[in-house]
Amino acid sequence: MSASYPLPCRTLLGGSHLIPLTEPPTQTAQAAAPQWITDDSLFHYQRCARRAYLDLHGDRAMMDPPSDYLQKIQQDSAEHRAAVLEDYVPLQRPIYAHGDWHAAAQATIALMASGADHIVGGVLVTPITETCFLVSRPDLLIKQGGWSIWGAWQYAPVDIKLGKKPKLDYQIVAAFHAEVLAAVQGTPPHESWLALRDDRYHSVDLAQQLPKLREILTACLRDLTYPEPPEVFIAHSRCDLCHWFTQCYGEARQTQHISLLPGVTSARYTHLQALGLTTVRALAATPSAQLANFPGFGEAVAEKLVHQAQATLYNRAIARTEPTHNTFVLPPDALPSAEVELYFDIEAAPDFDLIYLHGVLVVDHRHQTQRFHALLAEHVDQERQAWESFLELVLDYPHAPIYHFCPYEAQTVRKLTHHYSSLNLTDLHRLLSRFVDIHDRVTTAVTLPVESYALKHIARWMGFDWRDHEANGAQSICWYNDWLMTGDRAYLEAILRYNEDDCHATYHVKRWLTEFADPLWSAPAASLKVSG
Ligand code: SF4
Repeated sequence: MSASYPLPCRTLLGGSHLIPLTEPPTQTAQAAAPQWITDDSLFHYQRCARRAYLDLHGDRAMMDPPSDYLQKIQQDSAEHRAAVLEDYVPLQRPIYAHGDWHAAAQATIALMASGADHIVGGVLVTPITETCFLVSRPDLLIKQGGWSIWGAWQYAPVDIKLGKKPKLDYQIVAAFHAEVLAAVQGTPPHESWLALRDDRYHSVDLAQQLPKLREILTACLRDLTYPEPPEVFIAHSRCDLCHWFTQCYGEARQTQHISLLPGVTSARYTHLQALGLTTVRALAATPSAQLANFPGFGEAVAEKLVHQAQATLYNRAIARTEPTHNTFVLPPDALPSAEVELYFDIEAAPDFDLIYLHGVLVVDHRHQTQRFHALLAEHVDQERQAWESFLELVLDYPHAPIYHFCPYEAQTVRKLTHHYSSLNLTDLHRLLSRFVDIHDRVTTAVTLPVESYALKHIARWMGFDWRDHEANGAQSICWYNDWLMTGDRAYLEAILRYNEDDCHATYHVKRWLTEFADPLWSAPAASLKVSG
């Protein structure tokens, strides 16, 4: 089977081959059926070994359908790729039946052997055992001067990525293309490139990245050939967009996996495992001093983790206290209340570098009223108008605290002020001094039985719910794009509803925290308050 492929050469790319061909991946290797280890497998492996495993062996019927946001990213990627490829006409593309890697590899080799200048959609394959093949699919192969098995030319790979920075995982995949290409054309390419969204080409330092690639690839091959998938580990930052999320999350919930506790990172999990602390119950019963000396912990993190396990186990909020005085950490002036309070949330369209919505809920305690103001740029040239309307509104209430969730709103106000020269420095500082980050106050003051300290998780635990259950920040980006493309106001209305609910949720959290803190402020000696 492998006879039709150019065999890997041990003298390529610095002399040592990436895979020890004499060592099959593992004694417990799965099937004898061909294994195709693709650049995608390697890319995902670097972020989550389980993802790469399930992509290869999982039941595809269990995969989640792509969200609107994921589809948008895929669409943006395709557009970026098409824009870069416009510079390389004429392009030649290997023709083969979908999924037939052998045919794809032969068609690509035929184009390379014929000396095609630019090959798009090429497939490079090299065997590493009788049944295991590496499959590299660089977006573009560019003919260059030099030597190869076909004559006085060779190729260099280009990967076209949507990111703005040459992240390590991109570079490792670029090194993978170079390594497989070296085996196919009989000589290492001079370079491997990344074409990123910043309109620049980044040449990957192969001397630096190839040793890392070999290490990662060896581990990847080992893990992908085990009979069982790697253990589930939920990290919302990487899992939320993964098509195995429902399956993994269900398994994590069923086993009460402690990766569901905020603060349990994979590095900390390694230490917890070594101590046998793999359940919420076990962690909840551990004195925090036992964890404090491990790297990446420290006293504050250790205490927070143990509290997190206790809060989750008993479904209770736990007040945080000063270690020395045993008093509640949050002073009353950190959570100001006033006759009029403003709750503020921004929506942005990153594709257009545009802040298109300033949502402000005005809560007037004197008149018992709540009024939502949507200061909206319906079109991309109306950012200034929306921003100035926002300033007018907040300056109408010069003493009202402005509650928001996370630093983004304050950062954006600073940015827009400079961009539009709207306020002098004194007035900007006066305005920003009214901002109160409720996320900061919650995480400082209390440990909650939540899986994440995102607004949705916190507010839901406190009893608030959004009218639209599917809405989220990523979805609102899609909705704004859809509004611009179709002019259908239903998209705008969905955004406004979501933004208004975010403002109400922030208000809900503020009220909850005030009620929670109130008895602790009046009895500062109290060290622990339980709620829920
Ligand atoms: S949901 Fe998370 S743990 Fe599961 S495969 Fe995807 S990234 Fe990995």
